[in-house]
Amino acid sequence: MYDLGALIEMKKPHACVVKETGKKANKWEIIRMGADIKIECTNCHHIVMMSRRDFEKRLRTC
Ligand SMILES: [Zn+2]
Repeated sequence: MYDLGALIEMKKPHACVVKETGKKANKWEIIRMGADIKIECTNCHHIVMMSRRDFEKRLRTC
């Protein structure tokens, strides 16, 4: 399971670009866990909400 505040990566990076590296951001912090999950891009602070099912589908597992 994933905890609040955990940092995760998605299969598809966010559209924003990290200034330091010039690469697309792909670090998300979990800010809400429930039937729906909210994640926040740690680079631009954009928030995305999705169902738990979508979340598990889109999550990049190492
Ligand atoms: Zn972003």
